[in-house]
Amino acid sequence: MRRPRSCCTPTPEQPRQGPHCSRTSGRVHGRYVRRLADAAIGGKPVVVELLVRRFRCLNGACTAVTFVEQIEGLTTPTDLGSSG
Ligand SMILES: [Zn+2]
Repeated sequence: MRRPRSCCTPTPEQPRQGPHCSRTSGRVHGRYVRRLADAAIGGKPVVVELLVRRFRCLNGACTAVTFVEQIEGLTTPTDLGSSG
């Protein structure tokens, strides 16, 4: 079995605040690998595989059921309730 070229979990296991409301959630709904294209190194394109977590929002009045954590400096909040 081949291992992923690069895969890391840059965030500690801690609750996250959703981008849509101020409620903090520690209820992990799932995890998935997100690919980030980066600048080429040595003429070869580099893809960073980032393991991010999807949280379930605990705010019953919130329109978003789940949200994906954002890694500061790496990801942007483009996934707001869309399929991921
Ligand atoms: Zn929410």
